[in-house]
Amino acid sequence: RTVYVNGEYLPENEATVSIFDRGFLMADGVYEVTSVLDGKLVDFDGHARRLSRSLNELEMGNPLSREELLEVHRELVRLNGIEEGLIYLQVTRGSDGDRDFAFPDPVTTTPTIVLFTQNKPGLADNPAAREGARIISIEDIRWHRRDIKTVQLLYPSMGKMMAKKADCDDAWMVEDGFVTEGTSNNAYIVKGNRIITRALSNDILHGITRTAVLRFAREVQMEIEERNFTIEEAQDADEAFTTSASAFVMPVVEIDGVTLGEGVPGPVARRLREIYIEEMRKAAV
Ligand code: PMP
Repeated sequence: RTVYVNGEYLPENEATVSIFDRGFLMADGVYEVTSVLDGKLVDFDGHARRLSRSLNELEMGNPLSREELLEVHRELVRLNGIEEGLIYLQVTRGSDGDRDFAFPDPVTTTPTIVLFTQNKPGLADNPAAREGARIISIEDIRWHRRDIKTVQLLYPSMGKMMAKKADCDDAWMVEDGFVTEGTSNNAYIVKGNRIITRALSNDILHGITRTAVLRFAREVQMEIEERNFTIEEAQDADEAFTTSASAFVMPVVEIDGVTLGEGVPGPVARRLREIYIEEMRKAAV
């Protein structure tokens, strides 16, 4: 695989980053994951905009312009022959060659930027989406700036492991009795023609897929209610699903051992998945 690190395209085993990098020492960095369909980038601008916002919130500079970023994404897709898959991008604060809690001087310290591709045929035609996901709920003990897409992913990783140990696929996190989001996705329930999902705030990541899916849902006359919901309400709903750049719309068929409906992906989630993939294929760059 050819990867990108700080301006260079290199074989993955030749790419290096300093052991003093604050991304490594302090999880001081942000990331984005953009999917590739038909060799093209899905919602590139959405991800580029959120990257800028995350960097801004952490007082980090943007190492590349939108155009440069697009060029690097496209070049990696080309070099690695990706038809369907993901591009991972990470920007960390870099280092001044020492360890200190205070940020290093931004004038003399340049951020580290790394991108690599993941080849994933079957992203669109995903067998897991035909089955639907079985989820557990766990307490949300993350920090309170979840709107910033930082690389502090230890708790979401632990949540994924808790789900695995329970023989399930994923976990939804609950705070003060209400679902915040999934370990790596936004969470929704469906009642009749109504889609219910938590409103945007610092409590959740502002999903790029969420924005697109809610727009498509409105276009086909579904109703959107942005409000909190509980696990009990979700267990009693007609359907549930999650959204993310890497799994698109993923139906949920079981929550904490309670089967939703017939235990198969519901019509709303299936339809939104179809529309999303079709429309994003058309709009991909
Ligand atoms: N919430 C969390 C916690 C996530 O990690 C992700 C995916 N990175 C999402 C939501 C979904 O965001 P997006 O649609 O931009 O992938």
